[in-house]
Amino acid sequence: MAVLICGGAGYVGSHTSALLFEKNEELIIIDRMARERQNAVIGGKVYNGDLNNSEFLDKVFSENEIEAVIHLAASSLVGESMSCPLDYYNNNVVGTLRLLEAMNRYHVDKIIFSSTAAIYGNPKSVPIKESDGPSPTNPYGETKLAIERMLGWAEKAHGIKYVALRYFNVSGAHDSGEIGEDHSPETHLIPLMLQVALGQREKIVIFGDDYPTRDGSCIRDYVHVMDIAEAHYVALNKLRSDGPSGIYNIGNGEGFTVKEVIDTVSKVTGKPIPFEIGAKRAGDPAVLVASPILIRNELGWYPKRSTLLEMVESAWEWHRRHPQGFPKIDQGIQKEGNVT
Ligand code: UDP
Repeated sequence: MAVLICGGAGYVGSHTSALLFEKNEELIIIDRMARERQNAVIGGKVYNGDLNNSEFLDKVFSENEIEAVIHLAASSLVGESMSCPLDYYNNNVVGTLRLLEAMNRYHVDKIIFSSTAAIYGNPKSVPIKESDGPSPTNPYGETKLAIERMLGWAEKAHGIKYVALRYFNVSGAHDSGEIGEDHSPETHLIPLMLQVALGQREKIVIFGDDYPTRDGSCIRDYVHVMDIAEAHYVALNKLRSDGPSGIYNIGNGEGFTVKEVIDTVSKVTGKPIPFEIGAKRAGDPAVLVASPILIRNELGWYPKRSTLLEMVESAWEWHRRHPQGFPKIDQGIQKEGNVT
């Protein structure tokens, strides 16, 4: 039986797919960017399509024997969600609704869901525990919270077991150096700095330096993408062994300031990273650091590549080897024949 990975051509999705492929899992990948991002997919049968399309889901579920779903297909930019909230509800909430309906129709009863620290909003205390009440400050976080709640009700009514993983700041790349972080447009701190190191960008703007932190810049909890991939695998096996549903933080438990990230990127790349101080970004809390204790106690997961140095080194390896990101389709380098 196969594991269906929704959003398997995205950043976390491609790394999670790669890990499961290495574990000899049978994979079905669906992604609405599958054609454009074929080079992000290391293995599995790939379908290009949209979760909101029930007929497409019927095709995927009827053509394959699916045991469990890993769901990472979402729109995930906070700023964009503020200006296009309805698109976020449509892509994230309606997409998941259609997926759960399909799972119910085809009697698939396990799902691992990619959630987010954005659910917490401004933390009441740090490190943030899962039991701290959710209070999202943007539509992106709201849609993820709505989905977590939908999963809870779907379990009660339809017996669909779930694990929701609330990621903090994902970073790094696969050990092969063949897949990594490639967003368009790029908005994330570490890849932006690596673009500076590659000479593609002049400088970094630090969004505020008068926060109540050790050097005035924001503190975030960075976690290696392969550790995140591993968390999905551990959660999948927990559900396979009849473990209960659960919601877990996926973080490092330690935070780093923007200036500390600049120093590390400069050290790893051997290039200066010029910066200027800009305005604070709307909705940015001073400190976001996870308590990763619950998942350690209940699923035995903990981050194995927890230093900023390891994360930046692996991200740099990918960016150095692929300064333009994944080869684009019109460059004619894509794999052939693996997208339905
Ligand atoms: N950040 C920054 N300049 C940038 C991009 C990000 O100072 O050009 C800061 C941002 O305020 C946050 C941290 O870097 O504190 C990580 O931001 P990112 O957008 O990578 O992830 P987020 O925390 O929004 O999920």
